[in-house]
Amino acid sequence: MDLSDTPSDAEFRARLREWLGKVLPTLPPPPPPDDWPGRRAHDLGWQRTLYDAGYADVHWAASPAVRMIFLEETERAGAPYVGANFVGLLHAGPTIAAEGTAAQRERWLPPILRGEEVWCQGFSEPGAGSDLASLRTRAWRDGDDYVVSGSKIWTSHAEVADWCELLVRTDPAAPRHRGITWLALRMDAPGVTVRPLRTLAGSAEFAEVFLDDVRVPVAHRVGEENDGWRVTMVTLSFERGTAFVGEVVACRRVLGELAREARRNGRWDDPALRRRLGLLDAEFRALWRLTQWNVSAAAAGGVPGPGGSVFKLRYSHARQELYDAAAEVLGDDALDLDRPWVLDRLSSLSYTIAAGTSQIQRTIVAERILGLPRGR
Ligand SMILES: Cc1cc2nc3c(=O)[nH]c(=O)nc-3n(C[C@H](O)[C@H](O)[C@H](O)COP(=O)(O)OP(=O)(O)OC[C@H]3O[C@@H](n4cnc5c(N)ncnc54)[C@H](O)[C@@H]3O)c2cc1C
Repeated sequence: MDLSDTPSDAEFRARLREWLGKVLPTLPPPPPPDDWPGRRAHDLGWQRTLYDAGYADVHWAASPAVRMIFLEETERAGAPYVGANFVGLLHAGPTIAAEGTAAQRERWLPPILRGEEVWCQGFSEPGAGSDLASLRTRAWRDGDDYVVSGSKIWTSHAEVADWCELLVRTDPAAPRHRGITWLALRMDAPGVTVRPLRTLAGSAEFAEVFLDDVRVPVAHRVGEENDGWRVTMVTLSFERGTAFVGEVVACRRVLGELAREARRNGRWDDPALRRRLGLLDAEFRALWRLTQWNVSAAAAGGVPGPGGSVFKLRYSHARQELYDAAAEVLGDDALDLDRPWVLDRLSSLSYTIAAGTSQIQRTIVAERILGLPRGR
């Protein structure tokens, strides 16, 4: 793979860099981390700005090279990341593009691109996380609607979402992977209750969602009834394979900041710390290459393959190691919640759980990439 910019890539990079230089100073400051309505407005506003400038669909339509350049340049310039648009832009939208009907693509994709609607993900339930196929939220057919009852948990951004990619059980008698259906749920539908949950890092970023006889039109089903497990695998491939790619660039920036801080506060004199930061630098360079490979593979095949689990596994651990190194650089200040990196360190703990735990990723790598025998 030739990783250098072609002349047209170089032109795209230069144009984007110039545009970012002009537009970023005009952006309002980001709202405080726990102001979710404010963050929704801010993130949708940034998406609208990208849309008006012709960059909104860069995660979907652009070539892998252009997508990587976009991620590198926006991060380098300190532009906002996708934020509350994470699910819509990075896995619900791509799933609808791959699996939805023409009418569904027309209904849901443009508002995501124009920064008008936020999506969340209603997959996990109290008894169905790693073992997602155990989900119990039920949907019965009633005329042109499904009637849905049950509950979801750990639904990120549920409080500010307009739509939810929702998994329901439509055939309880079928083998458990065969009775599931993927629906688009309106979060303001009667019978939807959202109860925020507070995380270790103090943020109410996710919620429990209770569904009490909620009506969802059959027209809002993506894929066939009872074929939702296959559609879910598409969603999870995007989530694990390509959704976190932009964050690798951010980690590389943080690593640079750590080295500068260590030089400033004298910790750079410790050879063990320098070695640790050097190893992390090598790790994030390798992850960036893996990212390029995953994005290219997704562009070639439409949907990322199981290689995403390799990325997710390594990235989530590397992110934790990065913030552990930050604690070492900070020394006693690592206990001060107002210092940069301290809350990031707390939230990094969740990365080996969110989007599927490391144990589950290892099983996928073992079975689907290495071809080892199934454990059960
Ligand atoms: C920050 C964050 C955001 C999230 N956002 C969302 C969201 O927006 N929408 C959503 O639907 N979900 C979301 N989740 C939920 C997430 O997908 C689940 O937490 C995850 O799938 C793990 O499920 P669980 O919490 O039920 O753990 P469990 O499945 O109970 O697992 C507990 C432990 O047992 C291990 N384990 C379980 N089964 C096996 C096995 N077969 N082999 C080996 N080890 C096993 C697990 O790896 C883990 O270490 C989020 C989670 C976090 C932390």
